[in-house]
Amino acid sequence: MSRAGFCPNCGRALNQFENNKPVADFYCGNCSEEYELKSKHGEVGKKIMDGAYATMIERLQADNNPNFFFLTYDKSTLGVRNFLTIPKYFFVPAIIEKRKALASTARRAGWVGCNIDVSNIPELGKIFYVQNGVARSKDEVLDRWSKTEFIKSTGNIEAKGWLLDVLLCVERIKQDEFSLEDVYAFEGHLQAKHPSNNNVRAKIRQQLQFLRDKNVIQFLGRGRYRRMN
Ligand SMILES: [Zn+2]
Repeated sequence: MSRAGFCPNCGRALNQFENNKPVADFYCGNCSEEYELKSKHGEVGKKIMDGAYATMIERLQADNNPNFFFLTYDKSTLGVRNFLTIPKYFFVPAIIEKRKALASTARRAGWVGCNIDVSNIPELGKIFYVQNGVARSKDEVLDRWSKTEFIKSTGNIEAKGWLLDVLLCVERIKQDEFSLEDVYAFEGHLQAKHPSNNNVRAKIRQQLQFLRDKNVIQFLGRGRYRRMN
């Protein structure tokens, strides 16, 4: 991987950290991005187990928060089934799930781990090198990464949370062409996620404008939109 893998941010070869680096496994000597690698057999699934919950929540606010690589392999052939990267700016507290504390009989009694809820990360943020055994070109990986970069400059974690939540709703609409009403259908769901907000519809419209400005969706007029792929 250190020889074959390239940095999705700049395209240069990645280096492997020697050892004892608390969270990251790889880094790019060119652009300084860091990457944590997780792997498991089978499918990507909905959740990925990660380390300590408190460390993870702290990480989300830190400058050196690593990006994420995820590898799934076929249990019988050990061949790579999926290999994807998720940029660090897709990691918000809402997708970090607290696991139950380890029982008092465990060696690390009371330790609390976390799961990354990948089912609540927008598809935009899942950038595949290999998907279901099919490799994507390097150009495609770099292009897809660069299309997500606007998320990085979205401001505080609250503003980013809104943007990612509305993006997820837009992705969950079955058709590429949809109406404002289709997005308003998620109002209750968004209200539950942001209980202190008392104008969810205005917030939805604001995020849709932002997504249009970033070429994620297109406005067709008269309350109609189209997803750009
Ligand atoms: Zn790089």
